[in-house]
Amino acid sequence: MTTPCIITVAITGSVPRKENNPAVPITVVEQVESTQAAFEAGATLAHCHVRNDDGSTTSDPEKFGRLLEGLRKHCPGMIVQFSTGGRSGQGAERGGMIALRPEMASLATGSCNFPLRIYENPPELIRMLADLMREHDVKPEIEVFDLSMLYQAIALSDEGVIGKPLHVQFVFGVKNALPVSRDALEFFVGQLAKLAPGATWTGAGIGRDQITLNRWSLELGGHCRTGLEDNVRWDAETLAPSNAALVARVAELCGEYGRRPATVAEARALLSLPEAGWGGGRRAWASAKACVAFLERRFCSRLDRHGSPPPNPPPSRGRAFWLCDRARSLRAATHPSKGNGFR
Ligand SMILES: [Zn+2]
Repeated sequence: MTTPCIITVAITGSVPRKENNPAVPITVVEQVESTQAAFEAGATLAHCHVRNDDGSTTSDPEKFGRLLEGLRKHCPGMIVQFSTGGRSGQGAERGGMIALRPEMASLATGSCNFPLRIYENPPELIRMLADLMREHDVKPEIEVFDLSMLYQAIALSDEGVIGKPLHVQFVFGVKNALPVSRDALEFFVGQLAKLAPGATWTGAGIGRDQITLNRWSLELGGHCRTGLEDNVRWDAETLAPSNAALVARVAELCGEYGRRPATVAEARALLSLPEAGWGGGRRAWASAKACVAFLERRFCSRLDRHGSPPPNPPPSRGRAFWLCDRARSLRAATHPSKGNGFR
């Protein structure tokens, strides 16, 4: 039997805006609705960024928290992956949402050029993010934008910094990074199989090459990524109607290659993730506490300077609200220019 295909839907990203395609979900409510439709169309993994309501980028853990809560509720069992990509935050801020404990988070294991800037991932930042993911039991998806990033990921997993088996995404078609090359993909896949046995992989193509990479990945035994983050068009003339439509197209395409979309249980087994259905409430509460603890550790020296009172959570009901307030005041104390800046 051939391997079922995990379809990742990259719902929003940090670049496309409503002006590019009105179907790009921006608010958390829109993101949950769009992901639910994509989930029903066959996606089993949601790759998520969050935005401010005006469409600008952010890595606000409070927004990630609300998104996670909505997805857990409306897409039962779906694998949630947060982006730690560099467009929405600086340095350690990029890992501020890992303590919320989504199943996965993206991790680029090197630097490269993007269309208009350097995608900067210095070694110490990669290790810091990888350590955080290990600490919170979050599986990294290694983002490979260039060949060295693959070898770096394998070295880090051999060293124990990243857990095994690896899950790698090969990204093609980003201007100034990897061109769309079948030879390159085959070489990468061969190296991965040789150097990281048991690893899984996904192919991602940007713009009109999204579908090219979907086809190649299905043919070569990999998994697929689609969604408005990477491509807002359906074809040369028309905009993609929704994330769900792009997912449905890949689900349909699976049949041409003797594959089918994975179920939630299959996707989790393929990625060596625990089955869905653990005590969601307890885990969510633990996650919220861990998130605030992370923010406190990260910013405690600056907090001292601002003279914030020590944390003292209320005993029972209202704890979640207290945590949100606490996170907001931490943010306000350490980033005064952003005000209480969480929404
Ligand atoms: Zn992304």
